[in-house]
Amino acid sequence: MYPRAFRYHRAASLPEAVSMLTDLGEEARLLAGGQSLIPLMKLRLASPAHLVDLNFVPGLEYVRELGNELRVGALTRHAQIEESQEASRIPIVHDCAAGIADIQVRNRGTLGGSLAEADPTGDWAPVLLVLGTEVVCQGTGGERTVKLEDFLVDAFVTTLAPNELVKEIRIAKPPKKSGGAYIAAKRSAPVYASAGVAVQLTMEDSNVCREAGIALGAVGLTAIRPREAEQVLRGKAVDAKSIEAAAEAAMHAADPQSDMRGSAEYKRVLVRALVKRALDAALRRSRGERVEVSHLYA
Ligand SMILES: Cc1cc2nc3c(=O)[nH]c(=O)nc-3n(C[C@H](O)[C@H](O)[C@H](O)COP(=O)(O)OP(=O)(O)OC[C@H]3O[C@@H](n4cnc5c(N)ncnc54)[C@H](O)[C@@H]3O)c2cc1C
Repeated sequence: MYPRAFRYHRAASLPEAVSMLTDLGEEARLLAGGQSLIPLMKLRLASPAHLVDLNFVPGLEYVRELGNELRVGALTRHAQIEESQEASRIPIVHDCAAGIADIQVRNRGTLGGSLAEADPTGDWAPVLLVLGTEVVCQGTGGERTVKLEDFLVDAFVTTLAPNELVKEIRIAKPPKKSGGAYIAAKRSAPVYASAGVAVQLTMEDSNVCREAGIALGAVGLTAIRPREAEQVLRGKAVDAKSIEAAAEAAMHAADPQSDMRGSAEYKRVLVRALVKRALDAALRRSRGERVEVSHLYA
C-alpha cells in the first residue's frame, strides 16, 4: 500500500531539525533509517503530514570510546555498530547489533530510531538496560540526559517531547571480570524476536557473582528486569543450581502475550531456556573465553 501524501523536509543540523519539528507541530515525524516508520506509513498505521529527514545532518553517525563510556551517535546504523572495533569490546553490544533482522535492515536502521520507537520487541532496550545507558536528548531548551529506564515509558512511548530528538546514546563500559550475552529466539532472521534475554555479570572471582543484570525483551510491554532472578545470583556462585533458579525466576517475571510468534506459555519456556544459555555464555566471557553466541531460529 502507498502512504498518505506527506511533505518532505531535509534538516541540515540538529537545531534546524528541532526548529522544524517545533514549527510543523505534532503532525511531523523524524525520519532516520525508515525501517519502522516507512512500513507503518505504508500500512497507514502512521500518517504524518510532514517528515523531517535527519539523514543529511552531519556528525550523528559514530561509535567512540570516551573514558568509561561508549558513545554512539543517534543516526549510527546497526551495521556500523556490528562492525565497530570499539563496540566489539562490549560483546553483548556486538551480539545485539549483529542479530537484528537482515543486513538490509541493519544497513539502514539506527540506534536512535530504535530507542525512540520503543517497540516492545526491539532488541536494543534489554541489552542497553543491563549495561547502564543514558540517552542524550535535544530540544528547544538545549540538551538533557535521561537514564534509559526513565526514557522508556511504555510500549511505543518514551519521554521525548514531540519537538525533541535523540542525539546520542552513552553506554557504560563494564568493569573488569565482566561478561555479557544477548540471545533471542526468532522464527527467521528478518522478523522480531519471540523472546530475547540480555545478561551482564560482574564477577568477584571466576565463580562468585558480584553484580548481575538480566533483562527480558518481547515478553512484556517494555523490557522487563526480573529482579528476583538477579538477586538469586548476586553474591553467590554461578553454577548449575543458581543458573536453574535464576532461569525459573526470570520465567515467572515474564509477562508475554500470545500472538503470531507463539503462545504466552511457549514464550515463558523460551525465556527460561534463553536465560540459561545467556548466563552460561556471560560467565565464560567473564573468564576471558571467546564465546560466539547466535540467536536461535525456529
Ligand atoms: C523487516 C524488518 C525486521 C526488523 N527486525 C528487527 C529486529 O529483529 N530487532 C529490532 O530491534 N529491530 C528490528 N527492526 C527495526 C529496525 O531495527 C529499525 O531500525 C528500528 O526500529 C527503527 O530505526 P530507524 O532508524 O529505521 O527509525 P525510523 O523508522 O526512521 O523511525 C522510527 C521512529 O523513531 C523516530 N525517530 C527516529 N530517529 C529519531 C531520533 N534520533 N530522535 C527521536 N526520534 C527519532 C521516528 O520519528 C519514528 O517515529 C526491523 C525492521 C524491519 C523493516
